[in-house]
Amino acid sequence: MRAQVLDAPRTPLRAAELPDPVAAPRQVLLRVRACGVCRTDLHVLDGDLRHPKLPLVLGHQIVGELVSGGERFGTGARVGVPWLGWTCGECRFCLAGVENLCDRARFTGYDVDGGYAELAVADERFCFPIPETYADEQAAPLLCAGLIGYRSLRFAGDAERIGLYGFGASAHIVCQVALAQGRTVYAGTRAGDDETQEFARSLGAAWAGDAMDGPPAELDAVIVFAPDGALVPAALGAVRKGGSVVCAGIHMSDIPSFPYEALWGERVIRSVANLTRADGEEFLALAPTVPVRTEVEVSPLAEANEVLDRLRRGDVRGAAVLVP
Ligand SMILES: [Zn+2]
Ligand SMILES: [Zn+2]
Repeated sequence: MRAQVLDAPRTPLRAAELPDPVAAPRQVLLRVRACGVCRTDLHVLDGDLRHPKLPLVLGHQIVGELVSGGERFGTGARVGVPWLGWTCGECRFCLAGVENLCDRARFTGYDVDGGYAELAVADERFCFPIPETYADEQAAPLLCAGLIGYRSLRFAGDAERIGLYGFGASAHIVCQVALAQGRTVYAGTRAGDDETQEFARSLGAAWAGDAMDGPPAELDAVIVFAPDGALVPAALGAVRKGGSVVCAGIHMSDIPSFPYEALWGERVIRSVANLTRADGEEFLALAPTVPVRTEVEVSPLAEANEVLDRLRRGDVRGAAVLVP
């Protein structure tokens, strides 16, 4: 099969011919129809996440067609593969219903090969059926940007006025869900990023502007999607007493120090790690009812490096998707 392979951090992906993967028991072999590109892929590529399997096929938002294997899905079924690829089922976290924190979890496109390829294998117990109403390319970003964004939104509690800082793949989905729930959305972007601010307003954001300055209104919660630690004290400054700042990314630059007074008043800072299968089932049932419409930029698999560069520059409107 053709694949884009990471040989070592901080080197471009290499176009390669690999042997076709073989499904083990409980695994499915999928023909990849689309694979979303996630900010986490950049963190793996850049060496911010330190222990990837190498060489590695990136990609953890896979929409595939079942070729063979497993017993859960039929041949030809459309199957989604998320970041959470396997959990032990027996550690204290798995037993407590927070398998996203499993001590021995394995992640797709990190510990096991992912979807920047023509074929992929995945443990069927961690896959999801893809809602019928979505085309392959539109469905792919639901699988991480959507799922983890939704988990982050849950941690924002019943916030009515919610800030989304870093308006990329995840925020553009969360924005639609939040509006459908009757919340008001404030979109924070890099200073002067008129295009993204316009995009956020077109999706219904009440305000879009420089995240470091913050919106004119006091917020109940902010979800920080951008990997810039300086946004955390900025977000804290924008939330009311008792409000939350939820950090949704897997990696962030260091958070600058700030006076305790900024946290005082029972403000909360928390991170969101990975996803549970329950998050996936809940969100994929919800998405078609909103309905969430994903804005995607589709590129051929061979252009993976260029697409990752565009994502790094903040040059993607909505979500980027690769198609083999
Ligand atoms: Zn992701
Ligand atoms: Zn576990």
